[in-house]
Amino acid sequence: MDIKKVTMHSLEKLFEDILDKKVTQANVLWCGVRIQVSKYGQTTSQRVADLYKRRRSAGECILCGEKVRKINKVTGKKYRLCDYHREKIDHK
Ligand SMILES: [Zn+2]
Repeated sequence: MDIKKVTMHSLEKLFEDILDKKVTQANVLWCGVRIQVSKYGQTTSQRVADLYKRRRSAGECILCGEKVRKINKVTGKKYRLCDYHREKIDHK
């Protein structure tokens, strides 16, 4: 998981989300302190599935988390991959 630098404000927001059970994993850096939140006892495949679901519903590339803008004309939904990864994986 990529580490994200956060401000005090977004760190507070993160803790709120954890308490609301909206967030079960995070990897952030705040003032040189790394805070890693993960669900205890979760298997790797569950973690990957959760990440996939989260990114898919947020309209992000399932591999890198980049915002996806292009719509798949066939399904009418956003592509599951960003331009870069779509080029790399879907059009082999
Ligand atoms: Zn990507």
